[in-house]
Amino acid sequence: MKQKIAVVGSINMDLVFKIPRMPLPGETLMGHSFHLVHGGKGANQAVAAARMGAAVSLVACVGDDANGQSCLHALQKDEINASHVRVIPDCATGVAGILLDDEGQNSIVLATGANALLDLADIDCADSTIAQAKLLLCQLETPLASVLHAMASAKQAKLKVVLNPAPAQKLSDQILAQVDYLVVNETEAALLSGLAVCDLATAQLAAAVLQQRGAGVVIVTLGAIGIWVAAPDQAYSLPAFKVEVVDTTAAGDTFVGSFAVAIAEGMDLCAACMFAQSAAALAVTKLGAQTSIPYRQAVEQQLQ
Ligand code: ATP
Repeated sequence: MKQKIAVVGSINMDLVFKIPRMPLPGETLMGHSFHLVHGGKGANQAVAAARMGAAVSLVACVGDDANGQSCLHALQKDEINASHVRVIPDCATGVAGILLDDEGQNSIVLATGANALLDLADIDCADSTIAQAKLLLCQLETPLASVLHAMASAKQAKLKVVLNPAPAQKLSDQILAQVDYLVVNETEAALLSGLAVCDLATAQLAAAVLQQRGAGVVIVTLGAIGIWVAAPDQAYSLPAFKVEVVDTTAAGDTFVGSFAVAIAEGMDLCAACMFAQSAAALAVTKLGAQTSIPYRQAVEQQLQ
């Protein structure tokens, strides 16, 4: 049976420019190509969870523009319940301008648009959907107050909460104590712990601080290195899969969405982490956000 997962988060249209190198200030640079790709951390993580086999509901906002329609259509194709996605009149859907160079590095500019208008009433409307889910998954591309409201609903209904605090912002100990699984990359781990994070040793120190601050399980993702996992009773590292990098966009989102499904299905922590790493590694072998998120069969095949 499919596990129910509720995602509260953002929907963006990604405007991806493939370029030889990053432009200098004031410079006009000829690009290789342009691609319009569905993105946004909330939508990406919802798509990852759906492709791993969960029944996913997304609580989000889009504008009443062509980008919004296209994003909704994409969610429909992945069989995501979008009945709690509010379409806001006279408002632009969130847009991300992504520059991707020949080295596979990216630089991103965000215009949040409708995502900034996700409010407490949107969460209240989705209350019964959240309560019926096994797990709530959130990020921070939508207003913090709405995310906290959703987390409070989830805790009341005894759901597990997975938080990916991206883009990085400071959070109180009280908020971290509401989080069962905190998944952070190097930047987020550094901002929340106050320690520089660049490798497994520093990730271990930062994860310990975040646990002291109240988070349950802390997972620090370290790109091609892999992850540091800190649970209350054990802590260990797991290496990433070795793959050819095309575009790392949405590696983190694929990890988080897949991890949430594995936990909702009752996999043990180590197996859930390797499942998520397998999915994320496949995502870096393809261009784009939602275009690069793999399906479960390929993820399981790589794990054999
Ligand atoms: P992004 O913002 O690009 O989506 P992120 O910074 O949130 O990513 P990362 O730590 O870069 O997250 O990557 C998440 C996970 O994806 C890693 O822990 C790893 O499992 C996988 N991954 C990322 N880059 C690579 C890579 N080059 N090779 C293999 N796996 C990778």
